[in-house]
Amino acid sequence: MNAENADKEKSAFHLRPLRPATCGTGEARLAPTAPCALRLAICAMIRVLPPEIVAQIAAGEVVGRPASVVKELVENSIDAGAREIRIEIADGGKRMMRVADDGCGIPAAEVELAFQRHATSKLTSAEDLARIATLGFRGEALASIAAVSRVTCATRAAGAETGTLIRLEGGEVVICRPVGRPPGTTVTVEDIFFNVPARRKFLRSSATERRHIDAWVTRYAMAYPDRRFVLVHDGREVFRSPGTGQMRDVLVAVYSVEVGSTLLEISPEEDAAVRVTGFASPPHLHRAERGEITLFVNGRWVQDARLTYAVIQAYHTFLPTGRYPLAVVSVTLPPEDVDVNVHPAKAEVRFRDGDGVFRAVQRAVRRAVTEESGIPTMRVVPGPAFIPRVPEARPPERPTGELFRPVPMPVVSPPVSPGGLPPLRVVGQVAATYIIAEGPDGLYLIDQHAAHERVLYERLMAQRETGIPVQPLLEPVVVDMPPEWAGLVEAHQETLHRLGMEVEPFGGNTFLVRALPAALAATHPREVLMEVAQGLAEEQMVKGTEEEKEKAIIRRVCRQGAIQAGQILSREEMEELLRMLEGCASPRTCPHGRPTMIHISTAQLAREFQR
Ligand code: ADP
Ligand code: MG
Repeated sequence: MNAENADKEKSAFHLRPLRPATCGTGEARLAPTAPCALRLAICAMIRVLPPEIVAQIAAGEVVGRPASVVKELVENSIDAGAREIRIEIADGGKRMMRVADDGCGIPAAEVELAFQRHATSKLTSAEDLARIATLGFRGEALASIAAVSRVTCATRAAGAETGTLIRLEGGEVVICRPVGRPPGTTVTVEDIFFNVPARRKFLRSSATERRHIDAWVTRYAMAYPDRRFVLVHDGREVFRSPGTGQMRDVLVAVYSVEVGSTLLEISPEEDAAVRVTGFASPPHLHRAERGEITLFVNGRWVQDARLTYAVIQAYHTFLPTGRYPLAVVSVTLPPEDVDVNVHPAKAEVRFRDGDGVFRAVQRAVRRAVTEESGIPTMRVVPGPAFIPRVPEARPPERPTGELFRPVPMPVVSPPVSPGGLPPLRVVGQVAATYIIAEGPDGLYLIDQHAAHERVLYERLMAQRETGIPVQPLLEPVVVDMPPEWAGLVEAHQETLHRLGMEVEPFGGNTFLVRALPAALAATHPREVLMEVAQGLAEEQMVKGTEEEKEKAIIRRVCRQGAIQAGQILSREEMEELLRMLEGCASPRTCPHGRPTMIHISTAQLAREFQR
């Protein structure tokens, strides 16, 4: 969207660098450094602009590019109660855009009025502005579109004998006569910006304009699953939503069967003032960009950095860093609690209780992700055996059974843990990396490193509240740092101390590690400190709140402090690890978002063996 805004801005203004003034008129009214062009403009006589220029300027706010025409026309069709909306485009909208609907139509007597500025059937009083339930309300779209293109509109109101055909060119009515047609409205827009060469020049390639149109059509299809949308580009149907009323069906049409069927449903809280519904990706499905977080407020697509952040926040520790969820989130609240009249293209809104909406979205998405997120299921692919590459097995570094030494173990565990893991029985270890376990519903393969990272992370986060127990090292360990890291470690010494890492400067770029958090399994103080230092060097760990910083450090500590792949574990250690994992609130992913386990159900095993 940033790109879209940038495009818009570029096409609206073409700024040239300012030059010092060199001409000599009107000095008295201007600062000496003002540019000459500006000075001349100000010196010229003030006059009221002719109506066609006013219309073009106003149109510039609403009609930025072909996609904004499609958006406005589709909004009108939705407001008209259409069940089916058909969008036909030629040449990325540069040549032609047509939106046809089976909605309520426009009565013959009002057709010309509909194309005048500030003419709307959706508002009658100023009070209405405080509770807008329609997508349109400014009465500007049709007038703006007509001002900068050639528009033909054929419409027939439900119950009227005949329809009306009107054609406008550059805002002037050239035809208006009765016409026979079924109820509904078809608006055809040709030659966009034919009379605004400056704008026409800034149109992008057909492919780019087409992408923007596709984005708008799919957004509205997702927001209105009960309407059928059909999109045709240059004679070829490229998208169709089924109009079944099920958002998941639309998601299948927009993304794919695979993505559509794996998205988790966000179910609304009973009786909540702010209703949050939609779909969100399970933790194993993520994207490189945050652009796939789609937000609707009362059926209107909005850009809202804060709500986008609420969705991202809901995935805290579930996703690898730099990855974002895919989500379609629809917020419904009383119209009087949201101001939609803050942006000419109506793409931004303001909430009466922004914090409340933020919390509602974050909570709802978090619930969907934690409660419903299933353990990724293994797809067994027939074919040659697949041998994963794993680091070479290392012998245990301490006598077995001591691995989790300082951690008190629960004696009994409940049948189902808070995170929803069933009780698991250890069967064995494979490749010194994965634990094989049996559950009531089949086989589980657990990544020992990822699982232990999760356990450590939750333990340290909980202990952080009361003080993390430390384990002094028998001998302090000397660690040499690259100079650019040394300064960071020194600057964060106090934070590290609070998190159970006793580190002190030892001259130059050298440090002494005296103690580590007691929960850590490994005795690699050097690696733990280097990992943290590297994290500090990565910018995101030193900015943000103190809490975010500490969480990021803890994640790094866990990465090095957890048992590693390639470490042979005794049965007792494996059992201990699984019990601890069962006690976790989010046992299915590591703090960096990787899955901790893969599940193969008994039914799947039977199928694979053709039993
Ligand atoms: P707004 O949507 O803000 O009211 P528009 O300029 O988009 O302003 O439309 C002006 C009026 O034209 C609308 O209020 C509505 O009454 C009528 N109208 C526009 N498009 C349609 C349509 N597809 N079906 C029925 N009425 C329409
Ligand atoms: Mg409108």
